[in-house]
Amino acid sequence: MGRVAAADWKMIIDGQEVGSATGAWTEVRSPATGVLAGRVPTGTAADVDRAVAAARAAYADGRWHGMWLPDRVAILERLADLIEDHLPELVALEVAQTGTAFKFRRDNDVPFAADNLRQMATAARHLEGKAAGEYSTDHTSMIRREPIGVCGQVTPWNYPFAMAVWKIGPALAAGNTVVLKPATRTPLTTMRLGQLALEAGVPPGVLNVITGPGPEVGAAIAAHDDVDLVSLTGDSETGKRISKLAAGNLKRVHLELGGKAPFIVYADADLEAAARGAIAGGFINAGQDCTAATRLYVERSIYEPFLERVTELARSVRIGDPMALTTDMGSLISGQQVERVDGFVQRARDAGARVLCGGRPATVEGLEDGAFYEPTVLADVAQDAECVQLEIFGPVLVALPFETEAEVLVAANDSRYGLASSVWTTDVFKSMRAAKALDFGAVWVNDHIPISSDMPHGGFKQSGSGKDMSDYSFDEYTRVKHVMVELTGV
Ligand code: NAD
Repeated sequence: MGRVAAADWKMIIDGQEVGSATGAWTEVRSPATGVLAGRVPTGTAADVDRAVAAARAAYADGRWHGMWLPDRVAILERLADLIEDHLPELVALEVAQTGTAFKFRRDNDVPFAADNLRQMATAARHLEGKAAGEYSTDHTSMIRREPIGVCGQVTPWNYPFAMAVWKIGPALAAGNTVVLKPATRTPLTTMRLGQLALEAGVPPGVLNVITGPGPEVGAAIAAHDDVDLVSLTGDSETGKRISKLAAGNLKRVHLELGGKAPFIVYADADLEAAARGAIAGGFINAGQDCTAATRLYVERSIYEPFLERVTELARSVRIGDPMALTTDMGSLISGQQVERVDGFVQRARDAGARVLCGGRPATVEGLEDGAFYEPTVLADVAQDAECVQLEIFGPVLVALPFETEAEVLVAANDSRYGLASSVWTTDVFKSMRAAKALDFGAVWVNDHIPISSDMPHGGFKQSGSGKDMSDYSFDEYTRVKHVMVELTGV
């Protein structure tokens, strides 16, 4: 279990490691310890032009989508192998730049990314669609499923490595070429992914990785006339900006955005399992998770005892040095994020919320300047309160009581977001009714958070459009062409 030595990383354009057009650098520091984790070039719109030109040239000559399919699959499989071979290094880099707990990264998203990629690697081997046949007299129709072209992809800071893999996996498997931009605070594991891709045999120009500020570099990718699809995982407001920029050439838009997941607990549920689920699902990645269980709706008859147990468990979450194996929860991404989270909590307190635990920045001995926040549970908040309606993106659970099934399903759906939700009950009828009624891209029954490489992940409403993972995601990185052949020669 090692810490990383800070290094200078280069962007990857056309298979070469290059600096930015201006020669400027951006530092990446651990938000937990303040230690320098590395430096990356501060990219500009001019660098986006270079990267898109490389991706276009690589697409145009078919060096990737024209490759013998077993070779393309083997390269992606090799990349998955390399991810596994380099797990300790990738985990250490991820912890260094995000401040989240080592234990969490080691056991969750970073190793899982290899499986996510393996699922995609073979997707091109089982394309599905309508069979060739005569759908109109004297014509044979057939469907071709083709890559789209150049894909621009922009990722967030909460799961930097996994999100990069979720993006490039389907895009590359389908035969596209890619320009990928990680979040400014967390580029390092994505830079390493770019290097590993070259080592695995991804040809130059097929995967270009560039760094730089979202409003300049991300925006230039979204607006670029020679990009055919732009994909973002990030905040809903960024999604709106990207959609507008993408309209210039009507490129395809693929968005995985924010969330505010309801977590419904009926009185007949296994309450200990639900309480543990609320802690694991609410404080995962220090609450910086788009699917985090942030809105607890608890049936009135069990509201107080349930919250008592949740609070007791929340108090047992250990905050500390991210690299320590005793640490359950590391830091948030930045001091600004701590201020943002605390702002929500203090305004909720002022509006009459009961703060059952936490409710302030946490102090970790020896890391007094770290961006830590106490696991927090707020009770008795109003449905229209900002802490119920907006994404806080920190370790804060908000709880509301409910009386009836009809009432809670309406309240759960009363959100601009539609990414994930869960229902806790032992009544199979109630769970099936909830699964039907909940307006979210995922509904868990008696669980919250688990995902599978073979199943789609993606939201409704302002949580975005499009899916990550699974064949559904692969399909979205392809286009459908109808070929119609006249049969008579008349
Ligand atoms: P963000 O929107 O601030 O940044 C995401 C990416 O967009 C970064 O690379 C950033 O540099 C870039 N960006 C910022 N402004 C831009 C602009 N004007 N034009 C183009 N690009 C721009 O999001 P974040 O704070 O990094 O990540 C947290 C958000 O991501 C949360 O809202 C979270 O819910 C969401 N998220 C969603 C999913 C999902 O699958 N739905 C998964 C993870 C995170």
